[in-house]
Amino acid sequence: MSAKLIDGKEIAKELKAEMTEEVKQLQKEKNITPGLAVVIVGEDPASQVYVRNKEKSCAEVGIYSEKHALPVDTKEKELIALVSKLNEDSKIHGILVQLPLPEQIDEKEVLYAIDPDKDVDGFHPVNVGRLMIGEPLFPPCTPNGIMELLRRTEIGIEGKRAVVVGRSNIVGKPVALMLLKENATVTVCHSRTRDLSQVAASGDILVAAVGKPKMVTANMVKTGAVVIDVGVNRLEGKLVGDVDFDAAKEKAGWITPVPGGVGPMTITMLLKNTVKAASLAQK
Ligand code: NDP
Repeated sequence: MSAKLIDGKEIAKELKAEMTEEVKQLQKEKNITPGLAVVIVGEDPASQVYVRNKEKSCAEVGIYSEKHALPVDTKEKELIALVSKLNEDSKIHGILVQLPLPEQIDEKEVLYAIDPDKDVDGFHPVNVGRLMIGEPLFPPCTPNGIMELLRRTEIGIEGKRAVVVGRSNIVGKPVALMLLKENATVTVCHSRTRDLSQVAASGDILVAAVGKPKMVTANMVKTGAVVIDVGVNRLEGKLVGDVDFDAAKEKAGWITPVPGGVGPMTITMLLKNTVKAASLAQK
């Protein structure tokens, strides 16, 4: 069997086209242009690429964006002062502080300083709480991207057995909550899970968010399962996921590639949250 590919690039493109229309509508009807502030501290090359991509994607759909680049020795209170200023800025609807931050800055303090109504990353405890009680306002971007991939492929989540490998605050835990909200029966695995292969192989939906190249092997995939590979790893100069794609695709019913699966969805969901923040701010 050869699995159908879930094309994140194509789905992201469709979503961006829909969002471009939404932005135009907001401008026409309410005279409002969604605005995103991206804050970066230091010169981390990967972060620079992420920030550039975010700015480029904003421009594509008509979102106003501004970049605040601060030196690597920025003090925590200086960064928090900038966040407070952005909280008050009416042309800014979403604030994103690019992680990781230099070690003199406590990430938590900074994330907690963001107005929850502008927290388009969905990392503020208020938004985590909203997700927990099943009333998400700004669902975190990567898990929301995963859900959108599942929705767009019309796979059907209700009643399915979903296994999530990984329990981080940014991927594993929130995606488990979102799957639960959609009425899947969810199991979350982690580094201490016993009989991981057996548990994983019980999943009609299998989400791998571990950060270990090709650790999900074909024997961990149920025949016909939907396999979502969140991992981004470098192996011998190539980008690979957490799933052994070539072997898994022979067993799965659907599978995401790396690159071109979950990756393109993350930024798209950030744009979606920013547009939502702008339309809510207007109310
Ligand atoms: P973390 O390192 O925060 O979490 C990894 C999780 O995997 C932990 O819960 C850990 O368990 C679990 N784990 C580690 N080893 C094993 C093992 N042998 N068996 C079972 N579980 C294990 O990673 P993230 O969630 O932040 O990211 C995961 C991957 O997704 C990374 O490759 C990252 O680059 C990628 N990613 C991709 C994004 C995208 O947009 N495409 C966005 C975010 C992340 P424990 O808790 O017990 O330590």
